[in-house]
Amino acid sequence: HVTANPIKDVEEEVKEWARLKKIEVDDLKKQERFRRDFLSNISHEFKTPLFAIQGYIEALQDDDFDDKEMARNFLEKASKNVDRLSYLIKDLDEISKLESGEIPINYSKFKINDLVKDVFEGLELKAKHHNIKLTFKQKYDEGIYVNADREKIRQVLVNLIDNSFKYGKEGGETAVSIFTLHEQVLIEVTDNGMGIEEKYLPRLFERFFRTDTSRSRQIGGSGLGLAIVKHIIEAHQQTINVRSTEGLGSTFGFTLQKTKQTLPFPNIPVLKS
Ligand code: ADP
Repeated sequence: HVTANPIKDVEEEVKEWARLKKIEVDDLKKQERFRRDFLSNISHEFKTPLFAIQGYIEALQDDDFDDKEMARNFLEKASKNVDRLSYLIKDLDEISKLESGEIPINYSKFKINDLVKDVFEGLELKAKHHNIKLTFKQKYDEGIYVNADREKIRQVLVNLIDNSFKYGKEGGETAVSIFTLHEQVLIEVTDNGMGIEEKYLPRLFERFFRTDTSRSRQIGGSGLGLAIVKHIIEAHQQTINVRSTEGLGSTFGFTLQKTKQTLPFPNIPVLKS
């Protein structure tokens, strides 16, 4: 016996097909909008330093230009803009590789304290240059083990600490703290710098997003650092967040999976009777 109503089934099937197609089309439209915004952001970000370089070159090419001091100053500024373009290309390359999944996450167990120590050593000179005191709220030898991609987490720490220098205050302090949670470790980078207006906080991790303050003060950057950081942390299935008070400072915190150190099997001495 055939009891089903075939006409109704076909109708339902068509409805379901249309619903799925709509989701597909909406998704494609979203991707297309995203691609368009991304490209227009890139060209905008490239235009600013390029126009600046062009301006300095044109000024220097002027036959009446003979102020040596000013020429040196213009060349320095042009060179800063060239640096800006290279950072931009490096970060763009990085983010597109991360997003295409070209760089997989290589998990390993390591002591997060050691990594922080390593990163601090690498940034010592830069901290001095910015006149910022770097402090670690834990003992380096206190072993807190995590399961993560060591090199990518190094980059996360470098990007966050580097930002704390750029947006920090002269004579300020950057502190890294580690808190152990139930199955996770929370790592926080805190500065007492310029802070961030509350309205900007939800957009901070978007690609190319920079606050008006960092743009207007011409603090160098691509606006991609935090997008890269977020991508790395989310690829680890972990979370990142920010707290900040304008004028007082900011804290960026991310979690990692905690793990136990696996000791090699101990050598039990053989007792001879
Ligand atoms: P970039 O530093 O290259 O501009 P990021 O993606 O690293 O790009 O940061 C985006 C924006 O977030 C910065 O331009 C700045 O406005 C703001 N920001 C990031 N870190 C801090 C910080 N520690 N203090 C204040 N503002 C910050």
